[in-house]
Amino acid sequence: MSQMKISRPKPPLVPLGTLIGHELRSGKVEKPHVKYGQAALAKKGEDYFLIKPDCQRIPGDPSTSFSVFAIFDGHNGISAAIFAKENLLDNVLSAIPPAVSRDEWLQALPRALVAGFVKTDIEFQQKGETSGTTVTFVVIDGWTITVASVGDSRCILDTQGGVVSLLTVDHRLEENVEERERVTASGGEVGRLNIFGGNEVGPLRCWPGGLCLSRSIGDTDVGEFIVPIPHVKQVKLSNAGGRLIIASDGIWDALSSDLAAKSCRGLSAVLAAKLVVKEALRSRGLKDDTTCLVVDIIPSDNPILPPTPKKKQSFLGSLFFTKKSQNGTNKATSKLSAVGAVEELFEEGSAMLDERLGKNFPPNQNSGSYRCAVCQVNQPPADNVTANSGPLFLPASQPWEGPYLCPTCQKKKDAMEGKKASKPATAAA
Ligand SMILES: [Zn+2]
Repeated sequence: MSQMKISRPKPPLVPLGTLIGHELRSGKVEKPHVKYGQAALAKKGEDYFLIKPDCQRIPGDPSTSFSVFAIFDGHNGISAAIFAKENLLDNVLSAIPPAVSRDEWLQALPRALVAGFVKTDIEFQQKGETSGTTVTFVVIDGWTITVASVGDSRCILDTQGGVVSLLTVDHRLEENVEERERVTASGGEVGRLNIFGGNEVGPLRCWPGGLCLSRSIGDTDVGEFIVPIPHVKQVKLSNAGGRLIIASDGIWDALSSDLAAKSCRGLSAVLAAKLVVKEALRSRGLKDDTTCLVVDIIPSDNPILPPTPKKKQSFLGSLFFTKKSQNGTNKATSKLSAVGAVEELFEEGSAMLDERLGKNFPPNQNSGSYRCAVCQVNQPPADNVTANSGPLFLPASQPWEGPYLCPTCQKKKDAMEGKKASKPATAAA
């Protein structure tokens, strides 16, 4: 009967990180402000960039706005970089089903990015030009960031608390074992240049072509094993926000991810971009085209810049995150924490198209026709086209149970996997 002693049940133990994660995500989450700055120094003039802060999922409806930021670092000429800059966004958007909700749109985005990259590559190669380009392509919708990349331009994320993470993977043969193995298995040869009486010099390259990258858009004159299939990563920030630094390798050959992030904390995006380029120049000189975009995603009710982290924040940060290794070239590098300030939604880097496009592609309900999952060309119903469709046509009879691909895209897929190189591979294959 005594009311004197009430021993309260202890609350269940919740990890501190979870509590703070809840706190960060609680409350009314409004769309963040997106502020950006850009800076560049040209050596060869082959870097291009794209800034589109006011795209709309539903044209005319400002509540469906999203932003796109991208860097294209061209090689062997500028035409591939320009072509990708002008066509890639449209090609990605055309691969997203119309009239879907925001959540569905975000879920469809990683697959649409794959389709858009491959379509852009096929279209560029049909022009018969030989240049190539890296692409680091960033879509920001609310607090969700989706990054697709081929090549060695890089996008890093600096969050509140001073944790820097890499959202891209470097597709450099020198540093990426998985990509070396893939290229070799698809019929390419990987080695260094041989000069000066047999001495090997320079970074690892693949042959034919001699490219140091394992993925790119363009590069018609190298093996088909140099694929345009991007690594895609999608994360959701807490409403504390964060800063993206997207830059070509002129920055990353001079500065580590941590150094680039630290060098510009506390500055506006406009100044930050300038400072990162300056810092890279100071430490290495102008050896290469150097382009940097800084994008701040900040709470709209409190649009302050990401502050320089205090000691305490750094300490907490180290509890919540697994730090990214500095060069982070492999696919399975450490993960961002799911309980801290950043939630991982999606990551996939496979170079196999069927692993990237998924299997649940229904035929077009309206017409019974099939739409190519890559280029979005409609194939009319079967009875109209059997004559010229060839053995690739009937999806039901295909050994591959993936989505329908038109003959052009199917040919590209086979070539990328080393099945039917459109040009003879080296004898070493
Ligand atoms: Zn197609």
